[in-house]
Amino acid sequence: MSENTLLLRLEGPLQSWGDQESKFVVRRTGQAPTKSGIMGLFCAAMGVSRADARKRLAQLNDLRMGVRVDRSGVRWWDYHTVGAGMQMRIAEREGKTKPGAMLTRREYLCDASFLVAMQGDCDLIGQLRVALLHPVWPVYLGRKSCPASLPLLGRKDEPDVGEFSDLELALRSVPWRRRTGDELAPDGVDCLLEWPAAQLGDVTPGDAEVWYDVARSFDVPGHEARFVVRKRLSIGVGKEIAVGTPRQSHTPAPPRARADYGNTEYRKRRQQRLEADDGLCVFCKSPATTVQHITYRRAGGDEAQEDLRSLCRLCHDAVTMIEYGLGMGLDRINPEDLQYRDQIIRKRAEIIAFRSLETRRRRLKPEEVE
Ligand SMILES: [Zn+2]
Repeated sequence: MSENTLLLRLEGPLQSWGDQESKFVVRRTGQAPTKSGIMGLFCAAMGVSRADARKRLAQLNDLRMGVRVDRSGVRWWDYHTVGAGMQMRIAEREGKTKPGAMLTRREYLCDASFLVAMQGDCDLIGQLRVALLHPVWPVYLGRKSCPASLPLLGRKDEPDVGEFSDLELALRSVPWRRRTGDELAPDGVDCLLEWPAAQLGDVTPGDAEVWYDVARSFDVPGHEARFVVRKRLSIGVGKEIAVGTPRQSHTPAPPRARADYGNTEYRKRRQQRLEADDGLCVFCKSPATTVQHITYRRAGGDEAQEDLRSLCRLCHDAVTMIEYGLGMGLDRINPEDLQYRDQIIRKRAEIIAFRSLETRRRRLKPEEVE
C-alpha cells in the first residue's frame, strides 16, 4: 500500500468552519474547511475524545491539507440562544440587566461542496479511511448541526484514496461534477494548498496566506498558524469532466535558505550570540528563547555573530510572520533595523490580541461552543 492521500467530499445543506474571526456573539464561518475542523472530524470518526485528542493531533497535524472549492456556497445566518437557565444576565433598558438567554448569530455556508485532500503517512491514511467508513461518533461539517448529504468517502462515483506526488495533482485527479440545474461548468475552481511545514529559512511564496487553524489540542487555547497558497485550476469550458489532466511542468521549487540547527559549530555561535545579548530579546528585552538568522549567507555553521540575533518567542513569531509576507531571500529582517520597528510592534499586538481572543473562546462552557 503506497496510497498517501485521502480524498473527502464535503457536501451538505449547511457547513460552518469557524475561523479566527469567530467571536462569542457572532460566530462566522470561514470560506472553506479548516484544518482544525477536519481534525475534529477525524477524531470523531476514530472515537478520540476531546481530552485524549492532544496525542493524536500531534500525528494528524503532520498531514498536509488541500481543498478544492467546487461550490463556494452562499453565506447564511441563523440565530441561536446561549445561557438559558444558567443565571446569565442580559441588558435591559437604562443600564439595567435581567436574567435571560443571550442571542447569538451563527453563519453558515449553504449548499457548498469541497473536495479535501489529506496527504502524508500511508499507514495513517489507511487507518483514517477505515475510521471514516465505520465512524465511532457521527461526523459533521464543522458543527453538529451540519450533517453531510453525501458519504464523505466510499462512494462509487469518486475515488477516495490514491498516491500522488503533491496535493495539486491529487485535487486534479477528481472530475468536477455537473449537477442537475447547472447550466455550464465554471471555467475554473479555486484550490487552497497547504505550504509544507515551514522550516525556519524556507522561502514561502509572497502571496501565501496565514491561516490560524492548526489545533494542538481541543481543550487548551491557541491555534497555530500554517501557510496556505491559493491557486486556480482550470476546467475545460462547458465540460463537466476533468479538472485538467495533470500538468507535468511544476512550478519550480523555491530557493531554500537552510540552516543546520544541529551543527556543532552553529550551536556554539548561537550560544555566543545569546551571551552577547545577555540572554535578552534584542527587540523587547524579555528573556530570549530563540536565535534568529538575519542572513542565511553563511548558514550551516559558518555564521558570523552579526548574522544572528537573540529573540523572545513573541518577537520571533512577529518577525517570522512579517517575513513570510515579504517572500524574502537569504537576507531577512533585522529586528534592530528601525525601518521594521513599527511593523514588528503592530504584528506583536495582533498576535497578543489573537491569543486573548482564543483564550476567551476556550473559557466558554462546552454547551456554549456546541
Ligand atoms: Zn521580544
